[in-house]
Amino acid sequence: MTSPSTFQLLLVVVLVAFIATLFIIFLNLKYAKKNIRSLEFKIISIELLVLTIWTASLTKTFFSTSIDFMGLNLALFILSIIFGVSLIKTVLKEIKTQKMVNALVNNLRIINDRLRQLDTQKSEFISLASHQMRGPVTSIQGYAGLILDNDYGEVPEKMKAPLEHILHSGKDLSEMINDFLDVVKIEKGDLKFEIERIDVTKMIQDIKEHYIIHANKKGLHLKSKLPDSSIFIKADKGKIYQAITNILDNSLKYTKEGSISIVLNSNKEKVFIDITDTGIGINKNEQDFLFKKFNRLSNAKEIDVSGIGLGLFITKEIIESHGGNISVESEGKGKGSTFKIDMPLVK
Ligand code: ADP
Repeated sequence: MTSPSTFQLLLVVVLVAFIATLFIIFLNLKYAKKNIRSLEFKIISIELLVLTIWTASLTKTFFSTSIDFMGLNLALFILSIIFGVSLIKTVLKEIKTQKMVNALVNNLRIINDRLRQLDTQKSEFISLASHQMRGPVTSIQGYAGLILDNDYGEVPEKMKAPLEHILHSGKDLSEMINDFLDVVKIEKGDLKFEIERIDVTKMIQDIKEHYIIHANKKGLHLKSKLPDSSIFIKADKGKIYQAITNILDNSLKYTKEGSISIVLNSNKEKVFIDITDTGIGINKNEQDFLFKKFNRLSNAKEIDVSGIGLGLFITKEIIESHGGNISVESEGKGKGSTFKIDMPLVK
């Protein structure tokens, strides 16, 4: 056997590679459904590389200088076919997976956009409905109040209790509407704060004086432990009042007997407000869900008091927006609960 010149070898390789390239592009066009833009150049280049190796290896086998070398080159050629085919298969599989992932990501993006649209529509609906309901509810509360105050003549004794019931339900409804509106604002990132310097000691004192009447009515003992001096924080007064009273409202709602205590403390950095009740308590495994939207725990369902599970969600949002934290501690069912708030002090 005579060995070929380098030029002959090169010529054969180039020619075969050229034909192979055309063949590969033709095959891949079929795979890409005749769309030249969908051609995968990664696979074409891998196929070309593999074909070049095969061609070189086959040529070397043909032009081997001895039978032994021919056997060896043939074995190498067969090995290159096996590895080449498996390499092409792997790359094809990878491209297919990549395409599937891209399609899934695309679908997810479409679904996500749709969900966002629906969420916006839902928020707009809640906001609109709540605003529409506000007027009638305010009228109901207002007129019930006026009637109870005898503004329309002396109210017969037996009508007082139903009227008070109307007034009370109106207040519950109006709080619920405000909660809905707050949630919409939170979701839109629209909850606004008017920050000022507030004396927390005085605020808690005022809250206690207001709540002591409600507590007494339920036969509960409301106590507090406050420092002698003022403690100042920078916050939205109305919103912090709302957050603290949300917790107190719950303590009253979920405590049948015993006491509720408010303890105020501070160190150099923070103010700490702990509100403890001797109420129905909270199962350990449910404590993580307490601050989530529309989450009413099994304890609330058992005793069937009114509520929609928004108060603590809003409270947490308010406290965290002021750079603070809120958490709950309870030893479990029937063992009472402590809600702990901390917030940064004015330096
Ligand atoms: P709501 O009271 O309207 O249901 P909240 O967001 O204020 O909603 O509270 C969420 C849930 O946390 C309540 O449904 C109740 O299960 C539980 N919870 C809140 N405060 C207390 C408390 N002081 N004692 C026991 N459970 C409580």
